[in-house]
Amino acid sequence: MQALSRNLSLFTAALICSTVASLAEAGASRSPSAVSPAEKAPVPAETKPLIAGFTAEELQSVVDESYAKYKDLKEGANADYIPILTTVPSDLFGVVIATKDGRLFTSGDIDYKFSIQSVSKPFTAALIMSQQDPDAIHDHIGVEPTGLPFNSKMAMELYADRSVNPLVNAGAIAAVSLVKADSEERRWAKVLQNLNDFAGAELPLLDKVYQSEYETAWGNRAIANLLYNYERLYCEPEEALRVYTKQCSVGVSTKDLGIMGATLANGGLNPITGKRVMPAEHVPELLAVMATAGFYDESGEWMYSAGLPAKTGVGGGIVAVVPGKFAIAAFSPRLNEAGNSIKAMRAIRHISGELGVGVYGANPE
Ligand code: GLN
Repeated sequence: MQALSRNLSLFTAALICSTVASLAEAGASRSPSAVSPAEKAPVPAETKPLIAGFTAEELQSVVDESYAKYKDLKEGANADYIPILTTVPSDLFGVVIATKDGRLFTSGDIDYKFSIQSVSKPFTAALIMSQQDPDAIHDHIGVEPTGLPFNSKMAMELYADRSVNPLVNAGAIAAVSLVKADSEERRWAKVLQNLNDFAGAELPLLDKVYQSEYETAWGNRAIANLLYNYERLYCEPEEALRVYTKQCSVGVSTKDLGIMGATLANGGLNPITGKRVMPAEHVPELLAVMATAGFYDESGEWMYSAGLPAKTGVGGGIVAVVPGKFAIAAFSPRLNEAGNSIKAMRAIRHISGELGVGVYGANPE
């Protein structure tokens, strides 16, 4: 009976959406920006080769358009709980589409190196899946979204799994501790090598970011110690905290993030180096966790609008994946309350809507 009433309310929600949509169409109020490039004037296929269903011009123009649309937005503020992040110039803004064959369409400050922060988390989860298998994530960390902020300690009390999923701090610290390594140096080397493999580049450790975060990491230290107490941490807490904090302090550009996402769009094969970084058969599990937990307590809102698996970080970076096609990456330091970059979110959501590539179907803004 309960299931029936839940299903009925789903149908009611769908009915409201379709009624609103048909009212909008009846009033011919569909804005030109809601027309996806694919619906615009057809181009002769022989003169304009298609990339994931779009011409190069269409991909470049949607990137330029989303950059221009949000470049002057000043909402939000840099993260300040990691003191050094307040010094990153707030107006920086970069937007990139990176296709599964490694082509880049870019606009803005796409070479500026910022700290990857939580965008690193799915890639270390991928490393566990490759070294071990997806059951290691499922059984030793968890895969439920918390619906709570990224650094929530309450989530650890609410959920039997404690760490809950690899994309919140608790689960990400646990993921680092699960990496098979016989010393702290080896653990860090494996984590960094894996990020490098996804990016197809040697990524730097931003040492000042590391120092600033490690010196103030009282909350994450508490999380690491609690996990250890609950037997959900698999190395010494301080070692896990240090390696996790280093992982978050790795420097990436928006272009690097694009390639990291393109490697996932390409089934785990890096399109620049040709190296297989993770088994193709585990990419769906990883994207599923990104879809349900990539934006923490805003994950529902994000999937409701942009409809793409994605991951954010308090450095201002976001990478979203259009499975089997391309990645959309964006960076800008000003964040909203949930710790997600406002300009990067808007830019990616705009591109997803314009191209109609949301995984549940086209959802124009
Ligand atoms: N290093 C950051 C932290 O642990 C990562 C958080 C984030 O990017 N959401 O607080």
